[in-house]
Amino acid sequence: MAEHSNGGRTALVIGGGLAGMLAVTALTGHVDTITVVERDRYPQGRAFRKGVPQARHLHILLSGGERALEQLLPGTVDALAEAGARSLELPRDLLTLTPTGWQRRFDECRHRTLSVTRPVLDAVVRERALRAAAGSGTRVEVLEATEAVGLTGDARRVTGVRVRSRDGARCVRDLTAGLVVDASGRGSRTPQWFAALGRTAPHEVTVDAGIAYATRMYRPRDTAAPEVGVNVPGWPACPRGAAYVPVEDGNWLLTLSGVRGHHPPTDAAEFTAFSATIGDPYVHELLGGAEPLSPVYGFRDTCNRRRHFERSGALPDGFLVLGDACCTFNPVYGQGMSVAALGALAVRGTLAGGGSTAEAQRAVARAADPAWLAAVGADRPYAGAADTGAGAGERLITWYLERLAARAAIDPVVGAVYRDVFCLTAPPARLLAPRIALRTVFLPRRPGLPAPPTAVEGAPSGP
Ligand SMILES: Cc1cc2nc3c(=O)[nH]c(=O)nc-3n(C[C@H](O)[C@H](O)[C@H](O)COP(=O)(O)OP(=O)(O)OC[C@H]3O[C@@H](n4cnc5c(N)ncnc54)[C@H](O)[C@@H]3O)c2cc1C
Repeated sequence: MAEHSNGGRTALVIGGGLAGMLAVTALTGHVDTITVVERDRYPQGRAFRKGVPQARHLHILLSGGERALEQLLPGTVDALAEAGARSLELPRDLLTLTPTGWQRRFDECRHRTLSVTRPVLDAVVRERALRAAAGSGTRVEVLEATEAVGLTGDARRVTGVRVRSRDGARCVRDLTAGLVVDASGRGSRTPQWFAALGRTAPHEVTVDAGIAYATRMYRPRDTAAPEVGVNVPGWPACPRGAAYVPVEDGNWLLTLSGVRGHHPPTDAAEFTAFSATIGDPYVHELLGGAEPLSPVYGFRDTCNRRRHFERSGALPDGFLVLGDACCTFNPVYGQGMSVAALGALAVRGTLAGGGSTAEAQRAVARAADPAWLAAVGADRPYAGAADTGAGAGERLITWYLERLAARAAIDPVVGAVYRDVFCLTAPPARLLAPRIALRTVFLPRRPGLPAPPTAVEGAPSGP
């Protein structure tokens, strides 16, 4: 890692959330000291905090993210299981409705996803990231209740961060570092901070399906019922959806979603009524046997937004961007945390190979590409007038993905590859492999199952 005359082998991470802690892990061993500035004070125990407002909502860690997390911080998946995280094998343990019917429950054992509340996931990752750093030569200091309010340096190089204490006198001071990592999440102010340094903001692409979420926690009365989640996503003809999954402590999270004009309500009675208006009554029926444990929480900022810091000239020296600060996704695809982990892994790999921060940022972008293509391809039918327009290639992707999804619901061969790509364990090019493309385009369209399947089917032979 390049040294800076003032900062030495030091790094400063803005945001001590998931991407911030994974940035610490990626930088451990490459710098002598890391200072994390976190706006919040971490709560006692594994509790919700204001700085991560989406943490009230259902979060699934896809197998691609789980594997990246385990590579970054070995033993974390077991630690999450000990903390109560549930494992859901896809598609066996997540009953999924598609526009053509219910997905068949193949017992593939290729994609274990984790279902756990965000406060638990964040706390476990934080504990392990800080513990791993403590056992290394890198010294890590976390400044809680400290908000980054600007960058220092000039148009060519970032040399540090201006911070303001959130306690007491709210004093402002400048912290210097050889490398600054923005991991401040979807509310990142880096484009505005660049302007103050005399730089242009990075090129930004948005595709907004206008999705809103509403989430409530439940406990099923029949604790002997099978621990199988349910996913009823919306689609253009029925733009309301639901996902109901087990989390730690025997609790379940129900997230309802809808595009513009179909936003789920946050009033408890209306929320329950809305659950009866999605593509299938199954989830609504399950609620009859469950006790609500929380109020209903809403969330609206769910836009796919990508900032192209990896493009030539877009990144000042001494600066790197990771996690949602770089790229956010429509959450219905469950990709954001996985992309943060894959990005951190890419940073670690680049730095270990002696690469520059610009190369690391390009690696972060490559790690986000598959998820971005999938989310944007699927969301185009809902995009708003203000969004970046789709090229012919993207329109073709949307058409192909729609056919592929219908085929994947019933075809074990197409389904296995579809899940490999959408769980972020294989490159999207696999979806175009000749035998997948032929089955997708030429085999006749057939419906999925008429009702949520109770029976599990054997695994197909080979991918
Ligand atoms: C409703 C919803 C549901 C989602 N569901 C899923 C899912 O199922 N699966 C999935 O993989 N992803 C999901 N995501 C995406 C996931 O939440 C994010 O990708 C993930 O949190 C990104 O981590 P991050 O560390 O970049 O940002 P965050 O987790 O938002 O953390 C940002 C941190 O920075 C701190 N911070 C912010 N500004 C400052 C500042 N100026 N100074 C100091 N500190 C600051 C905050 O306090 C916080 O600690 C969902 C998102 C939403 C909105």
